Amino acid sequence: MNQTIDLEKYLSLSNKFAIHEEWIQQGCPADKTPSSTVPGYLALASQNIEAYAFYRRSLLPYLSQARGNQLFFKEFCQIITECKQKHAEDMIQFEQFHNAPSEKFKGQWANLFDRFIDTNLNHTNCYKYLQKYEVEYFLVVLAQLRQISSGNGFDDKLHRFLDRTGNFKKGVLANYIVDGFQGYLEVKKMLTKAYNAKLRNIIGHNNYKIAGVELTSLEEDYTITKKNFFESYLCLQEIQNAILWLLSGGQSKNNELCQFGVTSVGFDVKNSDSQDSKIYIFQINSFRIIDPKAEWIKTIQFELKGEKLITTLSEVDAHHGIMTQELGSFLKKVDAQGQVHVSIVPVMPCFHEGCQTIETAWGTFCQYDDQFDIVAQAVVKWG
Ligand SMILES: [Zn+2]
Repeated sequence: MNQTIDLEKYLSLSNKFAIHEEWIQQGCPADKTPSSTVPGYLALASQNIEAYAFYRRSLLPYLSQARGNQLFFKEFCQIITECKQKHAEDMIQFEQFHNAPSEKFKGQWANLFDRFIDTNLNHTNCYKYLQKYEVEYFLVVLAQLRQISSGNGFDDKLHRFLDRTGNFKKGVLANYIVDGFQGYLEVKKMLTKAYNAKLRNIIGHNNYKIAGVELTSLEEDYTITKKNFFESYLCLQEIQNAILWLLSGGQSKNNELCQFGVTSVGFDVKNSDSQDSKIYIFQINSFRIIDPKAEWIKTIQFELKGEKLITTLSEVDAHHGIMTQELGSFLKKVDAQGQVHVSIVPVMPCFHEGCQTIETAWGTFCQYDDQFDIVAQAVVKWG
């Protein structure tokens, strides 16, 4: 699905995402409950807390992809996978060292967010870049990863990067990171833009001036345009987001979550004696991909209760709709055959221009990927 991003909708969604994460970070104070949240959050939080956490994490690569950084994320995951295959022992130590991220992340959680108040080339934004560059935690994680990935084992202390007073030489750490990860072109490109040593030094030493859309060193031996400055800033953001995502269990898919994330059920029964009559299951793509064959769908139950039709897909959810005459003849056939044709439609929150949206009780979504057809066992309870 290749749609054009509607910037306003995109910013609105990523802002909701950010505000919600900040709220969680503050311990979910009841009086500060965000007034509007990302589509699906409320429903999932009331169904299953793991599914809700999994969905929140899955939005980070989704939002990143929208910014065109899908290759970076893919390669970044590849580094982890390869390290786990080749240097299993080191990675176990690495993961133990960074365990219980919820505590450790408190100070750094704010880095998940990229809410630019303004996008001007000014001293405030230069200072923000410097602060981001210097967050030690990310430099340490990346240096440890480089070391493991090049076969030099896990090093918790990174002694050789400390100065005489026991502080990290951040410039040296950054150089070490940028020089590494050979063979991972996208990651390397991102790191090179993000950890721009020259830029960091002139800002850090207050050795620069801003003139219009350019930032220049006082010696005039270095110039960066506004566009490239923000490119560096956003790359730094993206890398730090990816690390937080990874260490909060980003990649892990709990197989038992495959039955969650169904936003709505629809019926296509226009033609009562056609073979094509079927039901649509709209499911958030993050959950949809856990079980590629949708084997979680065992028997779909249709139950009539007065005017209502309750469609039960699994133990975790039932969907209530209004019974109609057309549905009656459709269900008779389903009842006789003991099965029903199903299209599973992967959806995600919509932030596109002119998109055909799917409005549900969970919020506004749109189709994310091709739908997938199965035939499921079905029973009808006529009430
Ligand atoms: Zn859309």
